[in-house]
Amino acid sequence: MGPMDGIRNIVILTGAGISAESGIDTFRGGGGQSGLGLWEQHRVEDVATPEAFARDPNLVLRFYDMRRAAVQEKLPNPAHDALARLDAKWKGGLLIVTQNVDDLHERSGASRVLHMHGEHLNAWCTWCDTRSRWTGPLVERPPCPVCGACALRPDVVWFGEMPYRMDEIYAALRSADLFVSIGTSGAVYPAAGFVQTARDLGVRTLELNLERSQGSEWFHETRLGPASEVVPAWVDEMLG
Ligand code: NAD
Repeated sequence: MGPMDGIRNIVILTGAGISAESGIDTFRGGGGQSGLGLWEQHRVEDVATPEAFARDPNLVLRFYDMRRAAVQEKLPNPAHDALARLDAKWKGGLLIVTQNVDDLHERSGASRVLHMHGEHLNAWCTWCDTRSRWTGPLVERPPCPVCGACALRPDVVWFGEMPYRMDEIYAALRSADLFVSIGTSGAVYPAAGFVQTARDLGVRTLELNLERSQGSEWFHETRLGPASEVVPAWVDEMLG
């Protein structure tokens, strides 16, 4: 009996590291006061907070317009493809909770994906509170396709805002047998706390990452390496 035997329900948390080999930057340490560092040459607090949007909406909208355009040029890598294979073949419960705002899980074919930090390819109308699929720019203040108000913003959860669908995530953790964290630094809460919640619930925990995350000691097991290698190897193991 290996440690992965008897597993039925799986919750997988993914972070920027799973998309790194697709050419999408992770946060780089060292920069701003948040301790999160730089994101595409910008301090996180200048582009990814509600205060930044209030102070300089054009800067923030242009930043996300560039990210939204860039992400559409990228392709899923073997780590996304492996999770899509697991999603398609796994008979038990499976939920991919992603902190990523790119759509690479979906484009590789995964169907059970929850975007806790929103999506680059959505615009959120702050007037009528609807979300619309959005692939173009927002800086020119286009009208909301639903209500016509010029009040669209990126549907991305900024620092200081509440992540989406937390009740569903905690419900999935409560019925999970295995929690797997892939390519996330463990610096951004509440996602960084999922491993502790899982441990409190008696769930088995596994970390797949390039280097140990903050809070790595909470995991029963850690496997280090690039996501394009360690994730397919783990999925092969799960699918026998
Ligand atoms: P992070 O940038 O803080 O950490 C990235 C993690 O990935 C690190 O632990 C690093 O060791 C690991 N990593 C780097 N290259 C890897 C590789 N090839 N294989 C495996 N692991 C690798 O990212 P985070 O923990 O997801 O938190 C940052 C926040 O940034 C999230 O809220 C997220 O919404 C946002 N973000 C999203 C994207 C995206 O959508 N692709 C990109 C950057 C940041």
